[in-house]
Amino acid sequence: MLIYVLTRRKIILGLSVMIIIGVISYLTADSLTAPSLVRAPGTYYMAHTQEKVVALTFDDGPDPIDTPEVLDILKEKGVRATFFVLGQAVQENPNLLKRLAKEGHEIENHSFNHDYQQHQLLTEINQTDQEVYAATGTHTHFYRPPGGFLTKWQLENIKKNGHIVALWSVDSKDWRNPGVNQIVKNVLDNVFPGAIILLHDGGFHRTQTVKSLAKIIDSLKKQGYRFVTLSEMKALDTELK
Ligand SMILES: [Zn+2]
Repeated sequence: MLIYVLTRRKIILGLSVMIIIGVISYLTADSLTAPSLVRAPGTYYMAHTQEKVVALTFDDGPDPIDTPEVLDILKEKGVRATFFVLGQAVQENPNLLKRLAKEGHEIENHSFNHDYQQHQLLTEINQTDQEVYAATGTHTHFYRPPGGFLTKWQLENIKKNGHIVALWSVDSKDWRNPGVNQIVKNVLDNVFPGAIILLHDGGFHRTQTVKSLAKIIDSLKKQGYRFVTLSEMKALDTELK
C-alpha cells in the first residue's frame, strides 16, 4: 500500500512538473503568430478609427484564372483592394501585375514562393520587391508572412529591412473552401470599422472567393462601409497620428 501511494504521488508530481514545463514553454515560445492568433504586437492588422472603412486584401496571386475575375468584380463595384503577391507568380504573370497597378490597387509582398518556414526570409522579400518594381515601377511596403507565421527574430529583421508586417483582423477562411455563404458570413459576422479582411486570389482555384466577393462588397456598402487600400487605412488610424 505504501509503495502504491508513493508511486501514485510520484506520478502526480511527474505530471505536474510536465504540465508546468509545458505552460512555461508555451508562454515563452518564440512564435508570435498563428492563423488564429493574428493580433500580435508590432504588426499591422487593423486601424483604430470610427470611420466605416475596411480593407480587402487578397493573398497568393496573381493567378491567371482567378485574379482577372476578382479584378473584373472590383472594377464593376468601383472598389480598390490590396494584393499580397508572390514573387514567383509575378514573374510568371507580369501583365496581370501591370493591370493591378493600372486599376489603382495596392501591391504588397507575400514572399517569393510561399515557404511557410521562411528560410530565405529577406532574400524572398527582396526578390519579390524587385519583381514588383520591374513590372510596375513601385516598391512594396508591407509584408504578409505565408500563413501569418512569424517569429520575433523574423519580425525584427523584416522591420530592419524596411517592411511593415501586415496581418489581418477578419479571416474569411476562404482557404478552407467552406462554401460561398459561409465565406460571406465569416466576413459580415466579424467586420468592424478599420478591419483588414483576408481573402485569396491564388494558390488553389478560388471559385468560392470569386462568387463571394460581390455579395461581400454589396452587403458592406449597404452597411455604410467604404473600401480603402492598406496604406490609406493606415493613414486613417487615429492612434498613429
Ligand atoms: Zn498565402
